[in-house]
Amino acid sequence: TESLQVGELAKKLNKDTSEIIKKLMGLGIMATINQELDKEAIELIAADYDVEVEEEIIIDETEFENYEVVDDEKDLQVRPPVVTIMGHVDHGKTTLLDAIRNTKVTAGEAGGITQHIGAYQITNNGKQITFLDTPGHAAFTTMRARGAQVTDITILVVAADDGVMPQTVEAINHAKAAEVPIIVAVNKMDKEAANPDRVMQELTEHGLVSEAWGGDTIFVNVSAIKGDGIDDLLEMINLVSEVEELKANPNRTAAGTVIEAQLDKGRGSVATLLVQSGTLNVGDPIVVGHTFGRVRAMVNDLGRRVKSVGPSTPVEITGLNDVPQAGDQFMVFADEKKARQIGESRFKKQQDAQRKESSKLNLDDLFNQI
Ligand code: GDP
Ligand code: MG
Repeated sequence: TESLQVGELAKKLNKDTSEIIKKLMGLGIMATINQELDKEAIELIAADYDVEVEEEIIIDETEFENYEVVDDEKDLQVRPPVVTIMGHVDHGKTTLLDAIRNTKVTAGEAGGITQHIGAYQITNNGKQITFLDTPGHAAFTTMRARGAQVTDITILVVAADDGVMPQTVEAINHAKAAEVPIIVAVNKMDKEAANPDRVMQELTEHGLVSEAWGGDTIFVNVSAIKGDGIDDLLEMINLVSEVEELKANPNRTAAGTVIEAQLDKGRGSVATLLVQSGTLNVGDPIVVGHTFGRVRAMVNDLGRRVKSVGPSTPVEITGLNDVPQAGDQFMVFADEKKARQIGESRFKKQQDAQRKESSKLNLDDLFNQI
């Protein structure tokens, strides 16, 4: 508290205003009820009552917790879809992600792909698509466990020569639970043993009925290795994306989710963020999970430095005081002081929680030994 009126101080100390005025007179300060008192005077009076003056920090954590951004319909603009790829091991997820990236990166940019930031963006027919290349399952489980939803569309990769496998079913369940639309990519069509009809048949049993069979699930036959069907797949992503009417307001302070983060020897805490709303700028005061700071530098998926990025864009940032976790939410604050206060308060809370957790563990250990 930098200043208070005499009346306010009296209230805080639970004393009569006249009593405070008398005390002030004793200190040589002639005051009226509405007079502003400075920090020094407040401390003198408080000391007289044996009261310690604490810096009053007004922290409205709900600003951070209620991260859900509410925008006026008129401020919303179309944003790119954020796509994750899921499927059984060895069915071709990584190969497909590479194929998409390679076909869509223009020659001039080809040499620019030096950076791995856990996500990348391509342009198909003038429209951008963001792909998360964290393993689909991890993206869903860690993100959802932390209440974050980043995926707009999921590509379910099923090898045409192998069919539906346990992780295929798991992936379907994740996507359904998150209410994320599924596009099926029937992969490895170049193989002799490829049997796309069998894949369709098997998926029917899990509620994914192909449009060809009167259902509403889009199936695309691809060969990630040969690059066949990739354009069709991207077209279908654009189509679903239009149906979903994905929008965000780019003209506000940024908010979004941590895709991945680690400690880098040279650069300190490095976090890949997915901006989900607003525009993130270098220099922005930011709270990220239990960490905070100012965005020092931003690097995009091509390894280029950028100054500001809009909705659905993945970007790697430095400048945080600690390493956040995947799935943490972030939010930019208009002023740095507030970001710091909220960041510190959250940091402290987290440490208290951890301390409690570890003392509980110790007790458990003790009981286990008895
Ligand atoms: P992931 O575990 O789902 O990420 O699968 P990978 O992308 O690592 O692929 C597993 C294996 O399948 C690798 O040996 C790939 O080369 C191979 N593979 C992936 N896509 C295709 C494809 O379209 N055709 C063929 N013939 N092999 C493929
Ligand atoms: Mg893989």
